[in-house]
Amino acid sequence: MTASTLMAPAGRTVIVGSTGFIGRFVAEACLASGRPTYLLVRSGSISTSKSKTIKCLQDKGAVVVHGSINDQESMEKFLKENEIEVVISAVGGESISDQLVLIDAIKAVPTVKRFLPSEFGHDIDRADPVEPGLRMYNEKRKVRRRIEEIGIPYTYICCNSIAAWPYYDNTHPADVLPPLDRFQIYGDGSVKAYFVAGTDIGKFTIKTLDDARTINKKVHFRPPSNYLNINELATLWEGKIKRTLPRVTVTEDDLLAAAKEMRIPGSVVASLTHDIFIKGCQINFSIDGPTDVEICSLYPEIPFCTMDECLDEFLKKTLEVPKGIGEQMVEEAKEEVIAVKKPRQE
Ligand code: NDP
Repeated sequence: MTASTLMAPAGRTVIVGSTGFIGRFVAEACLASGRPTYLLVRSGSISTSKSKTIKCLQDKGAVVVHGSINDQESMEKFLKENEIEVVISAVGGESISDQLVLIDAIKAVPTVKRFLPSEFGHDIDRADPVEPGLRMYNEKRKVRRRIEEIGIPYTYICCNSIAAWPYYDNTHPADVLPPLDRFQIYGDGSVKAYFVAGTDIGKFTIKTLDDARTINKKVHFRPPSNYLNINELATLWEGKIKRTLPRVTVTEDDLLAAAKEMRIPGSVVASLTHDIFIKGCQINFSIDGPTDVEICSLYPEIPFCTMDECLDEFLKKTLEVPKGIGEQMVEEAKEEVIAVKKPRQE
């Protein structure tokens, strides 16, 4: 980054959704960057795992504020009183429209220099999933238009897929191990996508905040080392677990049928999986528009965690799995690891 692109570091930052899947990565990275970090947390019944997440973030210096983005008056008060400069929202699919209220609150607070709405996926103006994914995209599109209409400085993070096996029925695939029994391959398995580690989604999202080049831009994440089709991903994982697994085809019609069931959120994931791995929504456009920037060209000096490294992390977790799934396979993989670790006796 040159001096002309570097802005004075943005100060107080609030993260909405830090107890969620993507929000936690963003909150961790925000705290690691050293900026004053506030977490807006909904009060009410909080699960044990969410309480642990909050405690862990508090221990790292986060200030917890209770509230909801639905409440415009109290949001406005909070933003004003704390002179918040950056608002990052990582609310989930069911709360996308609630951000319209948050935008009205931000509008009234001149200290806010940048808003990152809950995007963290595809360029929703270019991608075109079937329902019910389309409904969520339409809500995200409305949020974009409102931000642009009001003139709040924004950055849209288009980070593509999280680095994990892309199960077509799981909203949070990085929480699940890649398959140990069989692969489900979408279509002919040849359509490529970008897989980005959650930690990198967080790290690079925070990196954009102090960079003038990302104001009013869509930031696309296209790391070449993480550009794979699902057949290549399966082969990479087979290399890690040292065995081949059967590959079962999930056809375009299968994905469309799963989307049509309208089970929320499972069918949303099915419709997005169809858009990614059948229609190629991550790669069927070039990013050369006036509001497009690509993250690797902004920060060529900072490496991305490669898909190969991400699968190494999954392999470690696989070895921690107690007896159960893929028991024999886990035992065999353990033996291989032990054999590799043992010093050679010659
Ligand atoms: P989650 O459902 O895991 O988490 C949502 C978070 O938002 C929770 O912390 C929730 O709080 C909070 N929240 C919801 N409504 C409100 C509100 N009114 N006020 C304050 N906080 C609120 O979301 P995800 O991480 O799954 O999704 C976040 C974004 O990331 C979405 O835009 C989604 O489309 C995208 N995404 C991208 C993926 C990818 O592979 N690229 C994968 C998954 C998501 P509470 O704890 O109270 O419920």
